[in-house]
Amino acid sequence: MDIVDIKDWGLGLDEHVLIAGPCSAESQQQIEIIAKGLRGANLGLFRAGVWKPRTRPGSFEGIGNDALSWLNSAREILNVPVTVEVANTSHVEAALKADIEVLWIGARTTVNPFSVQEICEALRGTDIPVMVKNPINPDLQLWLGAIERLNKVGINKVAAIHRGFSDPYEKRYRNKPEWSMPIHLKRMIPGISVICDPSHIAGTREIIASVSQRAINFGLDGLMIETHHDPDNAWSDAKQQVTPDTFKIIIENLNFRETLD
Ligand code: PEP
Ligand code: MN
Repeated sequence: MDIVDIKDWGLGLDEHVLIAGPCSAESQQQIEIIAKGLRGANLGLFRAGVWKPRTRPGSFEGIGNDALSWLNSAREILNVPVTVEVANTSHVEAALKADIEVLWIGARTTVNPFSVQEICEALRGTDIPVMVKNPINPDLQLWLGAIERLNKVGINKVAAIHRGFSDPYEKRYRNKPEWSMPIHLKRMIPGISVICDPSHIAGTREIIASVSQRAINFGLDGLMIETHHDPDNAWSDAKQQVTPDTFKIIIENLNFRETLD
């Protein structure tokens, strides 16, 4: 596979790329408040979910296309590129039309090769960077397969995101981390960066710092942390979001030099 290192995506991303922003875009004002709060945090990318794949119906499923233009303010306030999740071809078309710089494929989509292939077809002929979250279940082949499908349609700016795996017996985490998987992936795919999403691993904001440090210790290449100005009242993933100030404290207290042998 031919994979371009995240540092060479032409987006000015650092070795340890920091991604922050809300689980869901809720309003233009919310995006602006969060972006302003993240000034000075050395962010590489601003994230926001516009289409939200909820496990069960009846909860907030995202604002949709209208929220894409709100992200312009985050880009301007922070002077960084923005990233959204895409789960089907209409999402891809809307995101490309709105000049979103980076896309990501969520855990509920990576599990389905047909969905991944459809997304890939919609991306053929572009060279937009794509980050691929691990599938819900601990299946390295599905994760690898999604990355290969992207590569086959000519997307070589690909990174992976470890967001943990669903495990009904797991009590400590919302999604259990399986650190051998990203390490294995990095060995199998030269050049691929693997970012950790401690928010969806943790499920509660109290353990985000410790999960983040573990990710760095295991040699992962960055962090994606859900950040909201009023986490308790967030429209999705309220328990795991942190304020921009807490985000900065978490990052300041991480030891980026500590790696395990
Ligand atoms: C998210 O990033 O908000 C999200 C839905 O994540 P995941 O696909 O990891 O569940
Ligand atoms: Mn979320």
